[in-house]
Amino acid sequence: MKTHAIIPIFVPHAGCPHDCIFCDQKAITARAAAPDADATVEVIERNLKTIDANPDIIHREIAFYGGSFTAIPREEQLMYLGIAKKYKDAGRVDSIHLSTRPDYIDETVLNDLKNHDVDIIELGVQSFDPEVLKLSARGHDVETVYQSAEMIKKRGFTLGIQLMIGLPGDSYEKCMESVRKTIDIGPAIARIYPTVIIRDTGLDRLYRAGKYEPLAETEAVRTAKDMYKALTGAGINVIRVGLKATDNIKEEGGSAVAGFHPAFRQLVEAEIAREQIEQQLGPLLDEARRNGKLPAPGAGSMKLRAVSGPGSFSNMIGNKKSNKIYFAENYPQLDIKFAVDRNMAEGTYNLIHSMESR
Ligand code: SF4
Repeated sequence: MKTHAIIPIFVPHAGCPHDCIFCDQKAITARAAAPDADATVEVIERNLKTIDANPDIIHREIAFYGGSFTAIPREEQLMYLGIAKKYKDAGRVDSIHLSTRPDYIDETVLNDLKNHDVDIIELGVQSFDPEVLKLSARGHDVETVYQSAEMIKKRGFTLGIQLMIGLPGDSYEKCMESVRKTIDIGPAIARIYPTVIIRDTGLDRLYRAGKYEPLAETEAVRTAKDMYKALTGAGINVIRVGLKATDNIKEEGGSAVAGFHPAFRQLVEAEIAREQIEQQLGPLLDEARRNGKLPAPGAGSMKLRAVSGPGSFSNMIGNKKSNKIYFAENYPQLDIKFAVDRNMAEGTYNLIHSMESR
């Protein structure tokens, strides 16, 4: 049941002076202008009409997406913030959320955001590796990330950190190092994005010249899975894994050239489910072997039930039934039925003998 509704305001960063290798902001701003005050109010009202009709929604959030919010001209920032604050003051929305670059945070910026009751600031960090930042033409260093994160937390904002995987010069080890450094900083929320090659970006040119290859899907899923596990294990809420499929970002007929998978989060969560189930399988098989209850190949099957909460069932089964197929192929002496247990916490999976289950 969805209880948290987001009102997205897309603010493309026209005139962004940076040229991050993966970003097509220039192409986006050529297609879509930033909304003016009237258009912003119109978007909020339109969203609230639907949200207010849904009694399950208990939290409404205005979120400014797009480029780097605090890098747009100050008067534009104040226009957007003023509108959002009015809705918050009137009790019609509960929080204000935005994302920006680490090098566009200073005391003046934070004063403006505090004065307008902003709740959540996400930093597009991408990587803590200096070489990756340089090869991606980010234009800021790692030290700036630490300084801005510290300032944001000190002023009482909720901090978010966005990380990317598979940028030029990146590796599994560097991604995990970025995760360790993220955990040291201690944000409340995080996002993990696999690098998608967008048409006409610097990365696209490198790719076409044979100088850059996106991560293979299995490698991207493995890396994202280990990052996700480490971050959530440290109590950080990973609110997004992978880019959202939009009309524009997709491989067929869209601007994504390579590296995009619309069900990326499910691929990652299904992998975690499979790991959790397989970890429980070892002791069960050992016990059955000791008690002589493990059927010989071709001599019947041992019945088991894999259970999850209702919201995690599709992850347990896997994208295109990948987990079901995996267990059937790798454990032919087992007959595993997959079921829902409404009392189980989401994201947890239990494997039990069928006889023990009720
Ligand atoms: S990612 Fe942000 S900072 Fe980099 S070019 Fe795009 S809009 Fe500018």
